[in-house]
Amino acid sequence: MFDFTGKTAIVTGAASGIGEAIALELGASGAHVIVSDLEAQACGRVAASILDRDGKATAFAADVSDPEASAALVACAEKETGALHLAVNNAGIGGAQAPVGEYPLDAWRQVMGVNLDGVFYGMRAQIPAMERAGGGAIVNMASILGSVGFANSSAYVASKHAVLGLTKTAAMEYAQKGIRINSVGPAFIQTPLLTNNLDQEMLDGLAALHPVGRIGAAEEVSALTCFLLSDRASFITGSYHLVDGGYTAP
Ligand code: NAP
Repeated sequence: MFDFTGKTAIVTGAASGIGEAIALELGASGAHVIVSDLEAQACGRVAASILDRDGKATAFAADVSDPEASAALVACAEKETGALHLAVNNAGIGGAQAPVGEYPLDAWRQVMGVNLDGVFYGMRAQIPAMERAGGGAIVNMASILGSVGFANSSAYVASKHAVLGLTKTAAMEYAQKGIRINSVGPAFIQTPLLTNNLDQEMLDGLAALHPVGRIGAAEEVSALTCFLLSDRASFITGSYHLVDGGYTAP
């Protein structure tokens, strides 16, 4: 559907769920994908899937909550392909479930470290590389919980709300330099983040919260993300795009 031939794209959290779907779609659409996640072996598995389908991919393990690792990831992209054009700051964690008055301090810092600091460290390294490349596009993976609350998930909700503000500000700063920056807000999506933590009854309960009557698929988030990365979205920057089966419509 999209043609990313000649473009290099970083995807974080690319060894599972939404990030894996995005990495595979970018790879199938001609991009050289830098597949990044915590575990080298998991990155290698997704990169191999792209290579098996005659795509281009490089595996690079990096922890997004480490600013030096985020810089090394960008350096890898430039070393392997000469330039960085696209990035999806997708890695994220759910964190502990507890009301604010009881929320564990270490869990708060861990969620903020991955979901918010990770996006900042990512863009801080990616943007100068995109300036060197003459422009680019970034998608930061937020959530519906970037615009509405969810009981017992204060750290996650706060981190995703903050990603929207960070995205808008960076977009304003770099719009004139040909770098578009947007955020995406999925509702509940069938990925290990959800299925590893919830039983079927809970999943059915979540499905009922969506007017379409089901949880979403990772490929449905990838379709929106790839559109925002593509030149078809050339007038879209600084904005938040829902892919939520109507969750936030009521
Ligand atoms: P997922 O299946 O758990 O995939 C996330 C990937 O990120 C995992 O491979 C995970 O590795 C990796 N990761 C975790 N911490 C990392 C770190 N510090 N550095 C690098 N990689 C790290 O989750 P997902 O559902 O696809 O979620 C992807 C993004 O979408 C997240 O930002 C999430 O908040 C967002 N989102 C998800 C949903 C949903 O319902 N699934 C809804 C809205 C938004 P490990 O498995 O080894 O931890």
